[in-house]
Amino acid sequence: MLLRNRQKIANLHTQTQGVDMRVDANAIQDITDLDTNHSKLTFLWLELTRQCNLECTHCYEESDPRLPLLGSMATKDWIRVLTEAANLGVEFVDFIGGEPTLHPDIGLLIATATELGINVGIYTNGTTIKNELWNVLAQNNVRMAFSYYATKAEIHDVVTTRQGSHQKTRAAIIRAVELGLQVRVGVIEIPGVNDDTIEATIAQIRALGVKNVGSDRMRGFGRGVVSLDAIRDPFKELCGACGNTKMAIDYNGDVYPCVFSKFTQLGNVNTGLSILAEGATMQRFLERLNVEHPERATDGECGPDCRPRGSCRPDCSPTDKCQPYYDRRCEPQKDCSP
Ligand code: SF4
Repeated sequence: MLLRNRQKIANLHTQTQGVDMRVDANAIQDITDLDTNHSKLTFLWLELTRQCNLECTHCYEESDPRLPLLGSMATKDWIRVLTEAANLGVEFVDFIGGEPTLHPDIGLLIATATELGINVGIYTNGTTIKNELWNVLAQNNVRMAFSYYATKAEIHDVVTTRQGSHQKTRAAIIRAVELGLQVRVGVIEIPGVNDDTIEATIAQIRALGVKNVGSDRMRGFGRGVVSLDAIRDPFKELCGACGNTKMAIDYNGDVYPCVFSKFTQLGNVNTGLSILAEGATMQRFLERLNVEHPERATDGECGPDCRPRGSCRPDCSPTDKCQPYYDRRCEPQKDCSP
């Protein structure tokens, strides 16, 4: 196992060009040390950047084009994280942001994750993807996730605050479907803006050939905060599907239970992923989450509609091993329909 991991690291060093991919001896030692620490981690969100070309009114990350493109995590740091994740048995990562396709090495990171045996997803607004990146997405069979707000461009573009974004996101969804990629779309309900058109929007996305379409309420984080209650008790704003099998890592290497849970920092990647996943801070977070979302303890992970309980957007769980809608941990149920 250790030898195989070292070989993978060596391969990364020799197969990439234009980026300093050298991983020092201490880093390799850190990674191999973690090999003996079995982790239940299955899924990671990797927030490559906080910058976004859009500026959505509800954005939990408060992203905009003026923010720095990169944090303190260099590409070689992300590759080290991917290597560590693979060693720990992580099966899925989702690149997210900000807009992750703005990261200059997004293609390299996707290819690296795939090479390490990790299933890759990307959460994108789809408005900036160039042909070269589409090729990478197709070659690596990347799961694509989009947010979409309305059938009418004028409503969608009010949410993103950028004219023309509706047309570009819709075109990206169509292209992803045509490429045969797994596509999921979340329709986020923005009070007073699109809340009377959600069903029509879902129908329009389904008509484009997307089977995995869901909706979610706007969550009270970042620019989505509309009441003091969300600040006083952020646990109420979570979907309840977080857990110690999932974590989020941001552009500075800081680690959280999920992308929404920035109010609970578990530590930094330098500590080691499995240590953070099973540490005291995560345990306290989960205890509090169980109080706020008792269904976590009583009803298991699967809902009657075959989706994981508490599913929210960004999608809390990968779905690519079971089709059409249910999570890989959820057995197909007889009332499940495409
Ligand atoms: S919600 Fe997504 S697309 Fe909109 S500003 Fe935030 S990161 Fe960008």
